[in-house]
Amino acid sequence: MVKTIAIVGGGLAGMSAALAFNHRKYKTLLFEKNDHLGGRVHSEYINGYTLDVGFQVLLNSYPEISLKWQRALKLRSYEAGAHVKIDGQWRLVPNPLINPFCMFKAPSGTLKGSLSLLWNRQKISSPTETTEEYLNRLNLDEQWVEQFIKPFMRGVFLEKGLETRAERFVEVMSYFTKGNACLPRGGMQELPRWLEKQISHTKVYKGVEVVDCTERSVVLSSGKKFTVDAVIIALPLPQLKMLFSDIPDIHSCSTSCDYFTVERNRLKADRYLWLDGSDDAVVNNFSVPSRIQRSYAPRGMHLLSATAIAPNVPSSIEVREYLAEQLDLKKSWLTFIKRYHISHALPSQKDPPPIEIVSYNGLFIAGEAVSSPSINDAVASGKAAAKAVIESL
Ligand SMILES: Cc1cc2nc3c(=O)[nH]c(=O)nc-3n(C[C@H](O)[C@H](O)[C@H](O)COP(=O)(O)OP(=O)(O)OC[C@H]3O[C@@H](n4cnc5c(N)ncnc54)[C@H](O)[C@@H]3O)c2cc1C
Repeated sequence: MVKTIAIVGGGLAGMSAALAFNHRKYKTLLFEKNDHLGGRVHSEYINGYTLDVGFQVLLNSYPEISLKWQRALKLRSYEAGAHVKIDGQWRLVPNPLINPFCMFKAPSGTLKGSLSLLWNRQKISSPTETTEEYLNRLNLDEQWVEQFIKPFMRGVFLEKGLETRAERFVEVMSYFTKGNACLPRGGMQELPRWLEKQISHTKVYKGVEVVDCTERSVVLSSGKKFTVDAVIIALPLPQLKMLFSDIPDIHSCSTSCDYFTVERNRLKADRYLWLDGSDDAVVNNFSVPSRIQRSYAPRGMHLLSATAIAPNVPSSIEVREYLAEQLDLKKSWLTFIKRYHISHALPSQKDPPPIEIVSYNGLFIAGEAVSSPSINDAVASGKAAAKAVIESL
């Protein structure tokens, strides 16, 4: 008898679980609340611009993003390094002189190599040590830490205070030191779009909300019930908590991303990220995605993306003023397109994920409830949940 598997949530974790059943004799049903798959990895296409819903990047060092995927997505990368603000002035910290990312790659015996070793070997003092505490303890150049590493990590963890546990920081840094931050040619949405093509065997239900699940059933808000042989739940923590009240409370990290356009000949853009670690920073980081992938803006135009981190979220007017000042542009040259505010972008990573094993009350779990919140971990967790289902059947 062919077994039927229900997957709740059509983000990367749910799609990756579906993909794992591709070559096996199972019937897979995927239930997604939105009218599109991909969850938090999503783009909108407005007047020829590609707007990722929240600034995010794909690292080509992610083990789950194989070369086949990378080629299909036509990735292009940001430059390693960044523009950083030191004493109110922007300075480019490029590859290779004092670029911290290159330090980790350098052979030992050099200054860079020694720093790399220090970094890798510096023991985390306890499982609860935070990134902030760890960085303060490393005895590295203070300016470099304050103006580069901290704003960079705030942009990754989407939190001001860097309370994420140091263990996670070291893990994330290993991806950044091994690879590059990339954008797909068609926007971040290309990733779920491509995955969707790979799971053509799965019956996908879009625009349906799952309101109840048991080990063997899924109930939609319409009242329709599906009886199945196993259920994988791949939901963000706030939605998982709506189904299971015993999931512990988590703090959501929120962010906003504003998009502006400017004529290409007015802005001499490069492929570096701009990091503002100053106390009065209006946004944490900004960049010109159309400089990475031309397809992000129509001919003759550039797209600017600026990310602020809660609770200090400025108005879009303030962001426009700020960008004009930093980039030495007239305000009127910048045209606002859209703001995205994402209230649950990532869960706080102060504590490890709340569920330790993939099986929970007879259900199988994927996504940030069992793994770290990232593209790589979402894909890995979907695979792991599918494997556990196959073993259990
Ligand atoms: C602004 C931002 C920046 C980020 N930056 C990066 C980055 O640079 N690099 C990186 O690796 N990661 C980044 N991430 C994290 C990464 O995008 C996520 O960790 C990953 O996409 C989560 O995938 P998921 O499938 O676990 O969850 P989701 O993508 O949230 O998917 C869950 C799906 O479940 C659906 N759903 C919810 N409730 C129901 C229900 N009741 N019934 C049916 N369906 C339901 C949702 O609509 C959604 O499609 C970022 C995230 C954000 C928001």
